[in-house]
Amino acid sequence: MNANSTLVTDKLSRPIKDLRISVTDQCNFRCSYCMTAELFGPDFPFLQQKELLSFDEITQIVEQFAKLGVEKLRITGGEPLLRKGLANLIRELNRIHGIKDIALTTNGVFLPKQLQKLKESGLKRINVSLDAIDDHVFRRMNGRNISTEPVLKGIKEAMDAGLPVKINAVIKKGVNDSQIIPMAKYFKDTPVILRFIEFMDVGNTNGWSYQSVVTKKEIISEINRFFPLEPVNKNYQSEVADRYRYLDGGGEIGVISSVSDSFCGNCTRARLSADGKLFTCLFAQKGHDLKKLLRNEKLSPKQLLMELQNIWGKRSDRYSEERGKNPISIADKIEMSYIGG
Ligand code: SAM
Ligand code: SF4
Ligand code: SF4
Repeated sequence: MNANSTLVTDKLSRPIKDLRISVTDQCNFRCSYCMTAELFGPDFPFLQQKELLSFDEITQIVEQFAKLGVEKLRITGGEPLLRKGLANLIRELNRIHGIKDIALTTNGVFLPKQLQKLKESGLKRINVSLDAIDDHVFRRMNGRNISTEPVLKGIKEAMDAGLPVKINAVIKKGVNDSQIIPMAKYFKDTPVILRFIEFMDVGNTNGWSYQSVVTKKEIISEINRFFPLEPVNKNYQSEVADRYRYLDGGGEIGVISSVSDSFCGNCTRARLSADGKLFTCLFAQKGHDLKKLLRNEKLSPKQLLMELQNIWGKRSDRYSEERGKNPISIADKIEMSYIGG
C-alpha cells in the first residue's frame, strides 16, 4: 500500500490532519470551566497508570495516523506536564515519517523545570493557558489559588528558548471579562500571540449557558476601543482562530469562536484520550477503544490502519454548527480534561 492510497476523508469531505493526544486526565488546576473543584475532589476516580496508553502504544497509533494524513500533533490533557518522561514521547513521535509539527498545550506551571528537555525532544510550539493577568482573578479561576508567577516565568523562558508561544484565554462573562484589555496590553508589542477562546459547553459539569459566553464580536469590539484592529487572513484553511492585527504594528491576536461562529466545516481534528479512546469530535459521546484493539485483540499495524480509515470515513460530526445558541441535550458528554482540549 503506498502512502497516498491510505489518505482518507470523512462523510463531509474533510481530511484528517491533526491529532490531539491527551497523556493524562489529571491536573494541578481546577479551572471552573473545565474541572470544577467540587466535582473533581480528592476521591475522584482518575485513571490508574495501567489504564493509560503507554508511550509505545501512542507511538504505534500515531504511526498509522500519519499514513492517513495526520501531520500535526498536539500533546494535551489534563495537564500534560504531569506525565512522567513526556519529552521521551515527543522525541519518538518526532521520528515518525509525515509528522511535521508537534505542539503542547499546558497551564505552564511546570514549564520552567521541563523546558530544556522539551525543546531538545523536538517540540515545535507551546500554547500556555492563562485566563487573567490580575493575580487575584487568576488565583480564583484556577481553583487552586496558584499565582500567575510560575506561568509568566514559563512563558518567558519558552520565548527565551526560541519556541513560538501562544496564550489561550477562556473568557467567562462576569468572571474574567475584565481581563480582556489588561491581557491585550500585556502581550501587545511582543511576539506572543494572545488567543481568546469562547467558553464552550464541553462536558456536563461546567454549568455552561450562552449567557456566560463573551462572543468574538464582543471581544473584538472591546479591544478595538483601546487598540484598533484589522482582520488578517487565516494561515491555512483549518486554522481554528480568526486572526486580527493591531493597526499600530503591535502584533496580532486571535479569537476562537467555537460558539458564536463555529467552524465544523473545516474540522480536520481527532482526539485520543489518555486511556486510548479515539473521538472524532469534542462533543462525541462515545470513543473508539483503540487500546482494546492493541492490547486484547493484538491488531497488526495494517489492521489498525484499516480500522482508523474506517472510523474517519464514517465521520459526520458537526456539533457546534448544529448547536447554535442552545446546548443540545446529550447525556454523558465527555469532559474536556479527559478528552484533551
Ligand atoms: N491543562 C492544559 C491547559 O489548560 O492548557 C491542557 C488541557 S486544557 C483541557 C486545553 C485547553 O482547553 C485550555 O486552553 C483550556 O483553557 C481549554 N478549555 C477547557 N475547558 C474549556 C471550555 N469549557 N471552553 C473553552 N475552552 C476550554
Ligand atoms: Fe487543568 Fe487545563 Fe482543565 Fe484548567 S483547563 S483544569 S489547567 S486541564
Ligand atoms: Fe470539530 Fe466537533 Fe468542534 Fe465541530 S464541534 S469543530 S466537528 S470538534
